Amino acid sequence: ASLANKIAAGEVVERPASVVKELVENAVDAAATVIEIELEEAGLTSIRIRDNGNGIEEEDVMLAFSRHATSKIENEHDLFRIRTLGFRGEALPSIASVSKVELTTSTGDAGTYLYLNGGDVVKQEPAAARKGTDIKISDLFFNTPARLKYMKTINTELGNVTDIVNRLALSHPEISFRLKHNGKMLLQTNGKGDARQVLASIYGMSITKKMLPFKKSSLDFEVEGYAALPEVTRASRNYVSILMNGRFIRNYAITRAIQAGYHTLLPIGRYPIILVSITMDPILVDVNVHPSKQEVRFSKEQELTSLITEALKELFKQQVL
Ligand code: ADP
Ligand code: MG
Repeated sequence: ASLANKIAAGEVVERPASVVKELVENAVDAAATVIEIELEEAGLTSIRIRDNGNGIEEEDVMLAFSRHATSKIENEHDLFRIRTLGFRGEALPSIASVSKVELTTSTGDAGTYLYLNGGDVVKQEPAAARKGTDIKISDLFFNTPARLKYMKTINTELGNVTDIVNRLALSHPEISFRLKHNGKMLLQTNGKGDARQVLASIYGMSITKKMLPFKKSSLDFEVEGYAALPEVTRASRNYVSILMNGRFIRNYAITRAIQAGYHTLLPIGRYPIILVSITMDPILVDVNVHPSKQEVRFSKEQELTSLITEALKELFKQQVL
């Protein structure tokens, strides 16, 4: 593995969850409608991701594993109108440098099989395959023992993976996601574009039944989503899901605005189970092109936070009446 790739891996690939994030985002970027994720031992033994997306052309397969080779940006202008989740061309070479990768990919006609060990290509050959990509990452961090030592328990690593997959599933209700761990199905969404079905597959039907739809607009923003009744609260803000133009984000002011919407109904230190989807002109968000940053800033933040607080207050006022 080249040193540069291993150094980059330290930034891009912290743990199994970051590998899953990068690979699933690639599948989303490839216009997949079905994405299957299979893990062994929270991904430390293996991570396999199968998609029915566009696949990679035979002549581009090797390129996909070299640094800063991305098919998603052709020139610097593209940087300012990024529509894909990835664009830096760093994920595959970084992941490959710290694991063993088996890839089978096909654009529909010809298919390719590639095997890499620590970033070195061991084998490449033509393969018969359906359109899409099947990538398996084994023995993650086998050649970076310091990183491996840093891993927490299987349960913690698995929790991080499910958080990531839940977020991706909520951001893409039009994609069918399946997540399996040690042979057990943990998440299954139907890909029919129904946010409520995704919520039900994440939180279960009994909680989702207690989530009410809301919707409200101001001049610049539209907010909609599903908010759990105040009786179902949690001690972690992980249950607060915020989407901005379809992308999962974190924002302190919005989280506070949500809590304010529950007003006295929410005990101190508790968070609701809620999905808030914000639609707005992208110009109103401070563009931060670093893909790992989920924290964003808004201009007109006050307008947005009041809108959210008001939408929730109205919702619960109706409930009482
Ligand atoms: P980036 O996503 O930033 O372009 P990556 O290292 O994640 O960089 O991927 C490199 C390239 O490999 C992508 O630009 C894309 O062309 C190709 N690729 C990776 N995964 C897939 C996939 N699942 N389906 C189709 N193409 C893929
Ligand atoms: Mg990528």
